[in-house]
Amino acid sequence: MPNKAYKFRLYPTPAQKILLAKTFGCVRLVYNHWLDRKISQYKEDQTTLSYTFCAKELAVLKKTEEYAFLKEVDSISLQQSLRHLDQAFKNFFNQPKTGFPRFKSKRKRKNSYSTVCVNQNILLSDGYLKLPKIGPVKVKQHQEIPASYVLKSVTVSQSPSGKYHASISFEYENQVLKRRPHTFLGLDFSMNGLYKDSEGNEAEYPKYYRKWEKKLEREQRKLSQKGSRNWEKQRIKVARLHEKVANQRKDFLHKRSREIVNAYDCVCIEDLDMKTMARSLHFGKSVHDNGWGMFTTFLKYKLEEEGKQLIRIDRWFPSSQTCSVCGYKNTGTKDLGMREWDCPNCKSHHDRDLNAAINIRKLSSLNK
Ligand SMILES: [Zn+2]
Repeated sequence: MPNKAYKFRLYPTPAQKILLAKTFGCVRLVYNHWLDRKISQYKEDQTTLSYTFCAKELAVLKKTEEYAFLKEVDSISLQQSLRHLDQAFKNFFNQPKTGFPRFKSKRKRKNSYSTVCVNQNILLSDGYLKLPKIGPVKVKQHQEIPASYVLKSVTVSQSPSGKYHASISFEYENQVLKRRPHTFLGLDFSMNGLYKDSEGNEAEYPKYYRKWEKKLEREQRKLSQKGSRNWEKQRIKVARLHEKVANQRKDFLHKRSREIVNAYDCVCIEDLDMKTMARSLHFGKSVHDNGWGMFTTFLKYKLEEEGKQLIRIDRWFPSSQTCSVCGYKNTGTKDLGMREWDCPNCKSHHDRDLNAAINIRKLSSLNK
């Protein structure tokens, strides 16, 4: 069954904040303790401790006087911490690019813990999220959850500026029927404006977002002057701005993807490898800030919810080199600086990105 997560702001009472801080601390302690255990075990005999083994040790540790405080927090959150650690090790061994699991530092200021719903120990109703050991926490719920959705798990987090959120994951029965597509849109990724579509429109970030980003840069520079008395104040200011900019971008990406999904049955994009692009000289750091990955994720699930589809086409398809009118392949357009060109074969005049977007759309109608 498919999953869907909703993120809501939480407003814990002062007493609940203390309990949450305690949970964050215990979860971190468990993670670090068994990371250390796993490392020394591996050094000793090149074996790794399994999740089940660690969970048994945890149960024993909780019975000792020294670690009795672990019993005060949600026991599932501690087990989840061990599962995360287990996953981090698996990722390290199975995915060559993943780094070795690291100790969680108190100073990172990004606190979180996850817990799983069993026997309705977690409930979302009447403006409250009931969490094990924490009790009902006031929640700002801006989206209605369909009654048929089943609550599976929750991740509670505290952002660097001190705000609390819950990401609540639900399972639902997928009853959406696939539609036969009639309208198609091609999107060509563009570095500065997110994309250009096959109708010639650009995504265009609203100008005031840029203004906030500039402000964030300025405040960040002030923060880099360490040792000042107001450093902590400035840190919170920067963290808040950071969250504001990220939220604005997210809202914008939600809005644009919604508009596209309402208007088209099938959207086609290039399957880009953002990590490689960020490393390449052409693009550099700004690829991370542009939000393309998040945008395509939103597009995909919004389309699928309505039985529509997102098609990713091979990144080696020469979308910008092929004339969208006659199909002639003009290798001269490989140069990214060339914004416009004329087809030597049929003499059509092309805007580079628009021509690419039209080619991408054409492919999506072939793939339906
Ligand atoms: Zn042509």
